[in-house]
Amino acid sequence: MIGAIFEAAMKQGRDDMAWHRLLLGLVSMLALASATLPVPAHAAADASPIAAPADRPFAGTIELEVDARDIRHRLFRVRQTLPVQGPGPLTLLYPEWEPSSHGPSVSVAQLAGLVVRAGPQRLEWRRDVLDMHAFHVQVPAGVDTLEVEFQYVTRAGDALLRADLVVVQWQRLLVYPAGWFARNIAVHAQLSLPPGLKPVTSLQTKVAGEDRLDVAATSLETLLDAPLIAARHLRSLELGQAGQPPLRLQLLAESRQAVETTPQDIARLRGLVGQTHAVFGPAPYRHFDAMVVLSDAFASGGIEHADSAEIYLPADFFRDHAAQLNNLDLIAHEHVHAWNGRARVPDGQWTPTPNLPIRNDLLWVYEGQTEFWGRVLAARSGLRGRQDALDRLALDAAQVQVANGRAWKSLRDTVHDPRYVTGRATIWPEWQRRKDYYTEGVLLWLDVDMTLRERSNGRLGLDDFARRFFAVQAAERPRLYGFDEVCRTLDAVMPLDWSAYLDARLDAHTPVVLDGLARAGWSLAFGPQPSEVFRQHERELAASDLTYSVGMVVTAEGVVRSVLWDSPAFEAGLAPGARLLSLDGAPFSLARLHARIAEDDGRALALDYLLEATRSTATLRYRGGLRYPRLERRPGTPDRLSQLLAGVDTGPASAARK
Ligand SMILES: [Zn+2]
Repeated sequence: MIGAIFEAAMKQGRDDMAWHRLLLGLVSMLALASATLPVPAHAAADASPIAAPADRPFAGTIELEVDARDIRHRLFRVRQTLPVQGPGPLTLLYPEWEPSSHGPSVSVAQLAGLVVRAGPQRLEWRRDVLDMHAFHVQVPAGVDTLEVEFQYVTRAGDALLRADLVVVQWQRLLVYPAGWFARNIAVHAQLSLPPGLKPVTSLQTKVAGEDRLDVAATSLETLLDAPLIAARHLRSLELGQAGQPPLRLQLLAESRQAVETTPQDIARLRGLVGQTHAVFGPAPYRHFDAMVVLSDAFASGGIEHADSAEIYLPADFFRDHAAQLNNLDLIAHEHVHAWNGRARVPDGQWTPTPNLPIRNDLLWVYEGQTEFWGRVLAARSGLRGRQDALDRLALDAAQVQVANGRAWKSLRDTVHDPRYVTGRATIWPEWQRRKDYYTEGVLLWLDVDMTLRERSNGRLGLDDFARRFFAVQAAERPRLYGFDEVCRTLDAVMPLDWSAYLDARLDAHTPVVLDGLARAGWSLAFGPQPSEVFRQHERELAASDLTYSVGMVVTAEGVVRSVLWDSPAFEAGLAPGARLLSLDGAPFSLARLHARIAEDDGRALALDYLLEATRSTATLRYRGGLRYPRLERRPGTPDRLSQLLAGVDTGPASAARK
């Protein structure tokens, strides 16, 4: 999953309700409000009354009925019939962990109205004392099935349930019996939708009545990984390459204009798919639905699945291409996850049920390398022009360089962030760090790529690793891997002590990963003019990013969103949440602040500000003028970065299809 812009905003301490709602739209986390998360009892004690999952057959099929028509109350109404395997104690589990969010992001706080019946008899349930997602019942003798009903509640303004757009994430809309692997439990789902919506899912469906859909029976594991999105307007476009399985671009929106594209848009996306196959080879799926929701109700971001992806982009994504510079990786990123994350899964990241904790120790491969390929493929396909691709990498490198929290929190430690920071604001983003395995992952894998290129005189690169490591095999999906296999595969590409190499970077307390940029023939530099990529980054933050000069992010209203730890702004005593009132005695404005920083005449800036009703003055001492990141060529060195970013010839087949 990636929600770069949302995460950037959370980094800047934006924590208002509008952003909460956007987050809810993406990952629906009412866990925001809860102070603590339940300890899974099955992990904590042998004496747990919750049966551990076993890889054994489950007799019968769970019938699931989801009614998504109560738009006024924003309620999903759920009814289930569960075959029981015998009398006695039974635990019903409500899913908690999502593989794509890498954390416990399904909140049972949104489940209400739970009633369990055996025929006419109501069975009282008791919630487990340790696991809030587990409900115990006693099944009477002679009972074959249980009927369960509940509601999944969302707030007005939450984006999952609207008259013109419904997002059905099955993990929020069912319970299942403890004691079996999710892949062994069959589920047959029926869905009622608001009138006239057009549904998309990677699962087989058939019409079962007006605005009623029948989803072919499948395993619980598959259902949880196959969301359904229905929208007023749908455009389906085939992007698959000759000789590869179908890949449908499914554009979903509340307005007709949002799904309109030009032939150039589609040619660029076909080019992207061609470049992706050139790196990874044959697709691991039989068909793939890239479900692109074009709506301003969601923050930009994506959620990966094995046979589909949920991709949330602004409504004007296709109409205002020039303003989308920082969204151009998203489709590439989520498609790459079909290989990196879904066909191949780090061994701690696959669990037999959605109620067992996920281990994220290889997220720097799962997300870090996917983010790297997003940058590279956006450049190779021409989705992002050469200068913009360089400027995007400059911003990545600047963010890595400035992350001084590495002094106490290594890249390796950031992989645990999804388990405890998701949904919570980060006050000092560079010092506390937040999911930096994305951005630092780009630089880490750039470093690996450049080491391969440097030592092989340009013959080898990360393409050679990806082709081997993600090669599709007949074996059952997913194929699990560990750190050793990553090192062995790199070693097969080029012999080196990769374990020591990677450990040194994962545990580093200095930004050694930036060495890769030097090997690439470039260095990070700063100049007084922001790039267009940087300007759009600021527009998405709705603030001026002065992190690389005085060390703070400030809105037009003077609200200090974040302060770089140990920066001039930090030394002046400023803290996030302060509201700047005046500068050198004149009313505060961003233009005045920029002008004073640019003057660089050695005079300190006098900033009056308000923080929690207390008025203070900060004396900000800084030299160096305005500073924005850019990349500069290192004279006399080979330009390996341009080799990496150059598109490969994807052959006459793909050219003909353009
Ligand atoms: Zn991702």
